Amino acid sequence: MRQNVVVLGSTGSIGDSTLDVIGRNPSKFKLAALSCDSSYELLAQQCELYKPLFAVVTLKKTAQKLSERLKELQCSTEVVFGVESLCEILRESNIDIVVAAIVGSAGLRPTLAAIQSGKKVLLANKESLVMAGPLMMRAAAAGKATILPIDSEHNAIFQCLPLNYSKTGCGGVIKLSLSASGGPFRGWNLDKMQGVSPSQACAHPNWKMGQKVSIDSATLMNKGLEVIEASFLFDLPTDRIEVVLHPQSILHSAVHFADGSVLAQLGNPDMRIPIAHALGWPDRIESGVDALDMRSLGKLEFSEVDDYNFPCLRLAYEASRVGGDAPTALNAANEVAVAAFLNLRISFNQISEVVEYLMNTYSFSELRSLEAVEEADLRARSISEARVCKIES
Ligand code: NAD
Ligand code: MG
Repeated sequence: MRQNVVVLGSTGSIGDSTLDVIGRNPSKFKLAALSCDSSYELLAQQCELYKPLFAVVTLKKTAQKLSERLKELQCSTEVVFGVESLCEILRESNIDIVVAAIVGSAGLRPTLAAIQSGKKVLLANKESLVMAGPLMMRAAAAGKATILPIDSEHNAIFQCLPLNYSKTGCGGVIKLSLSASGGPFRGWNLDKMQGVSPSQACAHPNWKMGQKVSIDSATLMNKGLEVIEASFLFDLPTDRIEVVLHPQSILHSAVHFADGSVLAQLGNPDMRIPIAHALGWPDRIESGVDALDMRSLGKLEFSEVDDYNFPCLRLAYEASRVGGDAPTALNAANEVAVAAFLNLRISFNQISEVVEYLMNTYSFSELRSLEAVEEADLRARSISEARVCKIES
């Protein structure tokens, strides 16, 4: 029996890699629905190729354009719009797998809906977990959803964890090492990064990704969000999660055990590996990625990460230590600051300045409900947007 898959954010970088892996395994998976924000031309091409039952976009006017395009292509995929319609599709009992690959806070509601309905959820959208980690992990336990990480570091850790990890507490695990390539500005100092442009910041040396995660990789906020993501996924405090600089992006993360053993997962830097692992789990399926040629790798380097010149990493650790809605607020401030940088309103170094301002002024509270998450998100956005305006003036 083929499994029915929904891909949230199918027109993005992770979405594209997911469709590639699914296309290589037609006997195992069937696409039930694809979703995106506004790139209806690309979504129409994907519908023509994969023939999902539904295509979901954010706005009614995009849905109209998509419908017209699909008519021209004689494609019978049904078009719907809005987050509520998307959540309804996710809750359908015939949906087996949901790939959560929307970028940013927009992914929160659909990802949570998929978890609450007990689906196998392949999580790329780290922002939703950072915003609402306790809610999501509780919902997964209550609704019997399986969350499988496809962020490469977390997928690597998942592959290395002992089978008895969740049942016995830690299964001998003492520490996690998350690898960080260091992004395009590895080895730079704050002075040197002062005038960098969005296109320089998006030019990641090892991975081809969407704009927002590329900027996050350049500031190291991506690694900070990933530390928080790992802490929720694997139920460990962040003082047991370290970041290791590894410029080659071949070793994707490692698990340290009480007896001194360290298990790591290696592979070429291509997101189709973690996606194929999670799609096929517990089996292994074809990903389309070349085998790793260990003889030609040469040197693999590991060193300390620089959180003085990359303060976002330190701020993320701080948010995790504070707990409650601090990670939610940190994420909101970062989204506001990254958008302001991409719109040339603030400089690259001012991204961390906006987030630091938020962390120093925001009054933190508990995170008990989805409403509390959304309230914290809005409050932090408004403080951060005001800070951006102040910097501009
Ligand atoms: P991307 O920008 O390439 O794609 C984002 C997708 O989300 C698009 O399909 C877009 O239409 C959709 N989207 C954006 N705003 C939306 C909205 N308001 N409502 C509905 N859909 C919306 O991003 P990406 O690089 O594919 O990253 C997606 C997620 O995966 C991010 O959370 C990122 O941190 C995470 N991630 C990405 C990579 C990578 O290699 N690209 C690796 C690990 C984790
Ligand atoms: Mg990652």
